[in-house]
Amino acid sequence: MEKMKEEGAGDETHVILFPFPAQGHINPMLQFCKRLASKELKVTLAMTLFTIKSAHKEVSNNVRVEAISDGFDEGGIKEAESPGAYLERFEVVGSQSLVELIEKQESSGSPFKCLIYDSVIPWALEVAKRFGLVTASFFTQSCANDAIYYNVKKGLLTTPVEGSTVSLPGLPILGIHDLPSFIYNWGSYPTFLDVVLNQFKNVEKADCLLLNTFDKLEDGVLKWMSKLYPIKTIGPTVPSIYLDKRIENDRDYGLSLFESSNETCMDWLNKRQAGSVIYVSFGSVAELGEEQMEELVWGLRTSNHYFLWVVRNSEENKLPKSLVDEDKYSEKGLVVAWCSQLEVLAHKAVGCFMTHCGWNSTIEAVSLGVPMIAMPQWTDQTMNAKFLVDVWEVGVRVKLDEKGIVRREQIEKCVKEVMDQGDRGEMIKRHAFRWKMLAKEAVDEGGSSDKNIEEFVASLLCT
Ligand code: UDP
Repeated sequence: MEKMKEEGAGDETHVILFPFPAQGHINPMLQFCKRLASKELKVTLAMTLFTIKSAHKEVSNNVRVEAISDGFDEGGIKEAESPGAYLERFEVVGSQSLVELIEKQESSGSPFKCLIYDSVIPWALEVAKRFGLVTASFFTQSCANDAIYYNVKKGLLTTPVEGSTVSLPGLPILGIHDLPSFIYNWGSYPTFLDVVLNQFKNVEKADCLLLNTFDKLEDGVLKWMSKLYPIKTIGPTVPSIYLDKRIENDRDYGLSLFESSNETCMDWLNKRQAGSVIYVSFGSVAELGEEQMEELVWGLRTSNHYFLWVVRNSEENKLPKSLVDEDKYSEKGLVVAWCSQLEVLAHKAVGCFMTHCGWNSTIEAVSLGVPMIAMPQWTDQTMNAKFLVDVWEVGVRVKLDEKGIVRREQIEKCVKEVMDQGDRGEMIKRHAFRWKMLAKEAVDEGGSSDKNIEEFVASLLCT
């Protein structure tokens, strides 16, 4: 019996996925792990040792987890002198650690056939090639952002001047503040700019590019990019319960690097009327200045709607002192350090999402049909804001003053536009509902992403 099991193990098609160790990168790749595991593949998720130690929840039991060292096993990126120092060591130590994992797996009789690596760690592709694995680069940002980085990397787009517009194939006309911040604010984060441009450093060697988006969402730019690379859209990578419901018990991402106050949120939301709450979150990385925090607090209060606001522990000290008072919060608003965002977005009490427009948050809100107020901070978020407002028409975008601050009156105005009755709000709600249906259609049986996933799996099974 044991013998038969061992032999069987050798016949399995084993895939390893390797995300960059950040919440916004782990979530979509972990979700894709579950999707592949539901299609009879054996799936391993490689995560850094520090990430595994920090996780507050377990990944689902049909996904194996293996550790990779990034050279900072005790403290992760925070232990490094700078982001640049982290990335340099991650490449050296991580490559070696990945080699060891692949070799260990080979000698165990269940070798990896394919490596799906996060596009921001292109060195993983080189390691996989040495072992003759099939390779797929997984892009965790929108195709529109990828297209911009491609154009910059190939010298087809240079830093645009203030006041100009940018016209590129497959994309709408873009104002310069619609571009990713690393481009319009050239030199602001040179290390991160290198990271996003280097996604295209060696990607032509990959057998395929997997994108967390869906065909109808980014139609023009996807068509353009498919002429350059063998791309497959596989998104939205949102837990199945919210879309096609075909993966059993797939209710949440399952792995959080932050501790969530979910029960508190649900109890509080359960007491609110349908569509009465603004959910506010700026994701896992973005930081707001103190002045901005204060404006936001007053804008939310004067809008006269309930609000549920995620303020991470590291940001809490910037909240105005007068507001760190339980009574005031419980009356109109609730502030928590982290929540299960999907459960919150799916709650009927939530009427809109004030978001930093990280790609996961954006595509989650699209999938759940929640209207948005876009308050992008940096990186790809500005481009996502452009699309959600002008292309999909599922939200409004705040305006900055000359100091780059969003003032309370502006916040109040945007909240009213989306939450209160009026033509714009109604139009946004209609579009949000339509995109929710299209997102579901994409991952449901026979949809564009479903077909791509089936094809990808079939190609692994038959080679
Ligand atoms: N998230 C969450 N709870 C929160 C805030 C965020 O579960 O309180 C999740 C959210 O659902 C998303 C991820 O964290 O999947 C954030 O990714 P995103 O790309 O939106 O932003 P980033 O954190 O990378 O800036």
